[in-house]
Amino acid sequence: MIIKQNLQHIQQSITNIAQQCERNPNTIKLLAVSKTKPIEQIDQAIQAGQRLFGENYVQEGIEKIIYYQQNRPNIGLEWHFIGPLQSNKTKLVAEHFDWVQTIDRFKIAQRLSDQRARHLPPLNVLIQVNISKEDSKSGVSPGEIKLLAEQITSLPNLQLRGLMAIPKAEIDRNKQIVAFEKMYDCYQTLQQSFPNIDTLSMGMSDDLASAINAGSTMVRIGTAIFGARQYN
Ligand SMILES: *Cc1c(COP(=O)(O)O)cnc(C)c1O
Repeated sequence: MIIKQNLQHIQQSITNIAQQCERNPNTIKLLAVSKTKPIEQIDQAIQAGQRLFGENYVQEGIEKIIYYQQNRPNIGLEWHFIGPLQSNKTKLVAEHFDWVQTIDRFKIAQRLSDQRARHLPPLNVLIQVNISKEDSKSGVSPGEIKLLAEQITSLPNLQLRGLMAIPKAEIDRNKQIVAFEKMYDCYQTLQQSFPNIDTLSMGMSDDLASAINAGSTMVRIGTAIFGARQYN
């Protein structure tokens, strides 16, 4: 029951934050990040009405996708790949996921398009932007977005939907807001060339409010729904 309560609580927060900054709450999607979490917990989220799920690890994500295809088809689940993607794993992702949020080079995009299963609709993709210029993070710089976007839109089996970022966690809230606002600028600039893009994926459990204030259209929440993760 706790997962249902957590989801209700987050939906309420999204609504409140949106209203405070005069945005329509329905323009902000909630992606439940279920990495490392078992089927029984995902079941609880589904029962509470959640349909969008994010996974970081290819093998784990695909096992869950196949499980639900076999056991709960037609309930409209949408699976987003949000982890780093190596070229030797693109085929599995192209054949099973609905979205990939972490595109940062053409080679990966090209492989995903080539390997997309023919019976599936185009794979929705986001370009990941390294907005905080961290060496450790993947993502293109703002100046590289447009070229990659042009290359992606030339591919037949991908649909460019927008941008994604994981800004550095900042203790200073103002610095965090600046990073989110920079992302919104990049998003608006890209929209001038590609009017069909509709997704700016940013904001996690700890920085939801700043992200929504800056214009996020999709928040990716793990811990605040499922609790802390354990890695072993
Ligand atoms: C794990 C993860 C999240 C969720 O983070 P929480 O702090 O648990 O909400 C969001 N986005 C990405 C890319 C992640 O890897």
